[in-house]
Amino acid sequence: MLGLMQDWPLLLHRIIDHAAIQHGRREVVTRAVEDGAIRRTDYARIRQRALAVAKRLQMAGIAQGDRIATLAWNTDRHLELWYGISGLGAITHTVNPRLFPEQIAWIMDHAGDRLLFLDISFVKLMEGLQDRLPTIERFIILTDAAHMPETSLREAVPYESWLAEADDDFAWAKLDENSAAGLCYTSGTTGGPKGVLYSHRSNVLHALACAAPDFMALSSRDTVLPVVPLFHANSWSLAYSAPMTGAKLVMPGAKLDGPSLLELLESEAVTLSAAVPTVWLGLLQHLETVQARLSSLKRVVIGGSACPRAMTEAFERKYGVTVAHAWGMTEMSPLGSFCSVKPGYAGLEGEALLDLKMKQGHPPFTVEFRITDDAGRDLPWDGTTFGRLKVRGPAVARAYFRREDEAMLDEQGFFDTGDVCTIDGEGYMQITDRSKDVIKSGGEWISSIDLENLAIGHPDVMEAAVIGVPHPKWDERPLLIIVPKAGRTPDKASLLGFFEGKIAKWWMPDDVVLVDAIPHTATGKIQKTTLREQFRDYRLV
Ligand code: AMP
Repeated sequence: MLGLMQDWPLLLHRIIDHAAIQHGRREVVTRAVEDGAIRRTDYARIRQRALAVAKRLQMAGIAQGDRIATLAWNTDRHLELWYGISGLGAITHTVNPRLFPEQIAWIMDHAGDRLLFLDISFVKLMEGLQDRLPTIERFIILTDAAHMPETSLREAVPYESWLAEADDDFAWAKLDENSAAGLCYTSGTTGGPKGVLYSHRSNVLHALACAAPDFMALSSRDTVLPVVPLFHANSWSLAYSAPMTGAKLVMPGAKLDGPSLLELLESEAVTLSAAVPTVWLGLLQHLETVQARLSSLKRVVIGGSACPRAMTEAFERKYGVTVAHAWGMTEMSPLGSFCSVKPGYAGLEGEALLDLKMKQGHPPFTVEFRITDDAGRDLPWDGTTFGRLKVRGPAVARAYFRREDEAMLDEQGFFDTGDVCTIDGEGYMQITDRSKDVIKSGGEWISSIDLENLAIGHPDVMEAAVIGVPHPKWDERPLLIIVPKAGRTPDKASLLGFFEGKIAKWWMPDDVVLVDAIPHTATGKIQKTTLREQFRDYRLV
């Protein structure tokens, strides 16, 4: 027997409808990409313009299921495109501009994108690539006629002129909630990037899960600054969960440096912000340099790579900002866990609380975890046994775009994340490593992430990476690679001395090298593959 409730499919445009009706005057503030000026609009106008986007796309012959690419920073225009494209039943393909140009061309060609909406920052880049993108019919520059650059891009037009050709008299498409709505490629290291195809339903469920109190805990009283870009897996749901709850949005445009972020955090009275650790490093350094305080910020979400202990400590103890460590991946829409304090850990203080906050946390309803050994046998949730982390849920991918034939799940429907972790008795997960980055020494595993997090607490260290290098007896041993703070040259004894008493003796790195910079991936993670290549011939003495 079926239930007798209304048929109300979970469609993304219902989010912007709700925001416009219930929170219509709530602001969306943008730092303009063209000149850094502050621009203000609200959810009612975002919805109106999103309707016009959908109508204008239809006039251009765009149909349901077509892929429309964006190469753009977080702005109001990107947000209205985001809702307009999926509201027509087309698919927003957010392209990460930090990928190598070859990868950008590869994924846009693979996706078969029909239009590209791009910020003026990326015009030159695309002029060099357009000949390799025959499926792109038109390049629409996210600006107005006054700021339109000279360009050889095919059929180039300023967005405002393009949009002005349509009014907002449009009815959102009637769709199955399982229809595709968004496409985001993982920055795959082997076999080319892989496309994750989100549905309306998966994104709505993910946004509901993320907004809940043990996770982003969003409300209409919040002001949210998503530093994490729309092109980094749905800006960790904020472009959906903020309008869903009526939180004010502050879009930082192209300026993600410490001074620009501090200015927006203060002038717009931001209460919650989310970004990868490298962004927060920039803000914390700037705060130290100018000796500033954070007067409104209450919470920061830190994820994408492991949050160093020193960062949590600085935010919480020095600036009074609560840190929520989060973990996820593109294939999970992306959030998989959040580190908020369950009653089982209530009352923790000082170092014990910091220890807890180093964990990546517990999953929301809609995400199931298991850890297994290499043979697929379940491992205990005791906080010490490492295993492969596998996940299941309605916002987790079951296949990659245009690779539907390749099996991606185990027999119970779980996806192997490629991360190695422990899970404790309270259900908190802690990442030990990527399975390919873990250092295998004498048959045991050493966590490169734990060593990196400790190293960054040394007063002379700005950034740290640990990789395994070949060793004749132990297979692999850890090599510590350090970027020192400006003007400092810490020696090996001082750096290794810093680990004494904090790690098992056999985890101690065998050597230390100082470098000017550590390479990063397009989503801000340390690029271990490049480092391993760089130190391929390194021999421990
Ligand atoms: P991406 O799909 O590019 O976002 O990459 C996902 C991967 O980033 C995960 O599988 C983890 O290896 C890593 N990652 C994300 N968040 C964290 C975190 N909080 N701590 C450690 N690793 C993380």
